[in-house]
Amino acid sequence: MKIGLALFLGLFLGGCTDSSTPSSLPKGEYIFRHHNESLVEVEPMIPLKRTPYPWEENRQSHYSKITKDFFLCRGSPLNPVHLVQKEKEILRYYDCGGTQKHSLPLRDKKEFIYPVLIDLLNYIQTKSEKRVVVTCGHCCPEHNTYLNPSITNQTSKHMLGAEVDFYVQGMEEQPDRVIDLILAYYNEQPKYKGQKEFQEFKRYEKEDNKIFTPPWFNKEVFIKLFQKEEGRDFDNRHPYSYISIQVRYDWDLKEPVTYSWDKAFRNFHRR
Ligand SMILES: [Zn+2]
Repeated sequence: MKIGLALFLGLFLGGCTDSSTPSSLPKGEYIFRHHNESLVEVEPMIPLKRTPYPWEENRQSHYSKITKDFFLCRGSPLNPVHLVQKEKEILRYYDCGGTQKHSLPLRDKKEFIYPVLIDLLNYIQTKSEKRVVVTCGHCCPEHNTYLNPSITNQTSKHMLGAEVDFYVQGMEEQPDRVIDLILAYYNEQPKYKGQKEFQEFKRYEKEDNKIFTPPWFNKEVFIKLFQKEEGRDFDNRHPYSYISIQVRYDWDLKEPVTYSWDKAFRNFHRR
């Protein structure tokens, strides 16, 4: 009886593995194993330390180096029309097309910002270990008029890349310390060594400044401190006091920096 059952099973299994009937083979891939095969042992994984990005290398420098790009015109066609009441008339001023439509001012066929402004802002960042926020760098003539259409503003050095408005993040309440850093810059830089007209600052005491704090000036720059309520425009809509640095003297050309229509309008335009 046992032999009979074995024979019967043998016939049945034999029938199942018959290679002459491929249609009965199970579909899919076969797994072949080797003799004495065992599982591969993997070393426990230790996550690698991520290489820091350049701006993370010095943990204190959580700011980027100031470049010309920080001075791009803040104008935008999305800004609302600036309405100004003049006697019985309402004048309408529209903003420029922004940096999509024009470049920085040009000098020698290159976009140009006075290098002393870039140097000074980087010096402030390095010394204070805090971020400088440029609120207004270059203003194209259209954006300049949009910000402030008054006649006195029509020769603004913002149009020449010779003026910057900024504050320092974390030192919003101590603008005097930022001014001290600017004065220190002129005493530290070797190129000004022994030149009193650069190292010594005077105060501008005339009363027509419309600002409370008398400005500082040496041969190269004119520094204004705008208190919290002063000097507000579309570019300076923040609640902090801020500093404006104006270039008076061109170190490279050895001549005073003056406004001219030609210099103000000299930039690339895109339709
Ligand atoms: Zn513009």
